[in-house]
Amino acid sequence: MTSTLQNDLTPYGGVVADAAWAEEVRSLARKRDAVLLAHNYQVPEIQDIADFTGDSLALSRIAASSDASTIVFCGVHFMAETAKILAPEKTVLIPDARAGCSLADSITGDQLRAWKAEHPGAVVVSYVNTTAEVKAETDICCTSSNAVDVVASIPADQEVLFLPDQFLGAHVKRVTGRENMHIWAGECHVHAGINGAELAERASENPDADLFIHPECGCATSALYLAGEGAVAPERVKILSTGDMVHAARDTKAKSVLVATEIGMIHQLRKAAPEIDFRAVNDRASCRYMKMITPAALLRSLREGADEVHVDAETAARARASVQRMIEIGQPGGGE
Ligand code: SF4
Repeated sequence: MTSTLQNDLTPYGGVVADAAWAEEVRSLARKRDAVLLAHNYQVPEIQDIADFTGDSLALSRIAASSDASTIVFCGVHFMAETAKILAPEKTVLIPDARAGCSLADSITGDQLRAWKAEHPGAVVVSYVNTTAEVKAETDICCTSSNAVDVVASIPADQEVLFLPDQFLGAHVKRVTGRENMHIWAGECHVHAGINGAELAERASENPDADLFIHPECGCATSALYLAGEGAVAPERVKILSTGDMVHAARDTKAKSVLVATEIGMIHQLRKAAPEIDFRAVNDRASCRYMKMITPAALLRSLREGADEVHVDAETAARARASVQRMIEIGQPGGGE
C-alpha cells in the first residue's frame, strides 16, 4: 500500500479499500484513541468504515461529546474546523487539508469586515459552510433547517446580512418576507449545477416520486415554483438538510424519490430505506473536495497524525459564540 501526492488537488491514491485496509484503519484508530466521522457526501468506502456518518452539525456535536481524544473528520476543511471550535481540547485531523469548499471560500474575513462597515448595526447571519474566521465575525450561525427561525428572531427594524449562499438566502427572504435582508452572492458550484430545468424534466418523468431537495440547490426555488403552479403536488416537494433527508427516507410512503443534492447522499438514503428507488436529479453533482478523502488519505492520516486542524484560541472563542446562538434557536438540524 502506497500513497502519493502528485500535484495540487490530485487526491492521495494507490490504496484499495479492501479487508486489509479496513483492518489497518481500525487498528490505527484504536491506537490513536480516534473516532472516525464521515460526512454524507463522502465516498461509500469512507462512509462504511466510519464510526458515525451524518451531516456537518451532527458530526461536530458527536466530536464534542465523544470520549475519544482524537477526531478524524472525513469531510471538508470548514467542517473539521467547526469540530475543533466545539472540541478545542481534542486533536482534530482531516485526512487531506486541501479539501476546501467553494461555498465557504466565497467570502473571506476581510470581505465580511468590509461588508459590515457598509451596514453598521446590521446583524450578521452565516450559514455553517463558512471558515472559522468568518464565523468569528458572525452574530448567529444557521443551518438550512433553522435559517428561517434565526432570521425571524431578529427585530424587524434591524438590517440583516445573510451569507454566503444566495439560494438559501433567497429561500429565507421569501419565507420571512423580510425586505431589509442583504444576501451575499455566494454559491456552491455543485449545488448551483442542479438546475430547475433538469428538476422539472425528472419530475415529469417520475410523476409519483417524492422530491428531496437541499436548499442550497439552484433548483430549490424552481421546486417551490413548480409546486405553486400545480406541476408537482406540494406535498411531494421536501426541502431538507442532508440529515433530515435520512429521516424523511424512513418516513415516506413513496416508492421512488428524486434527490437534489451531492450524489454521495444516495448511499446513506439507500442504506436507510433499501426498498425505495432513490435517483439523483443530476448524477454529475459530485463534490471534488469531498472526494479528496480517499482510502489512501485516511490511511496516511492515521499513520502520520496528519493533517492537524488548528484554530487560534481567540477566533475559536468568538466563532463558538455564534455557533452556540445557532444551537439555541429553533431546530438547527444538521446543516449541509
Ligand atoms: S458540495 Fe458544495 S457546499 Fe458542499 S462541500 Fe462541496 S463545494 Fe462545499
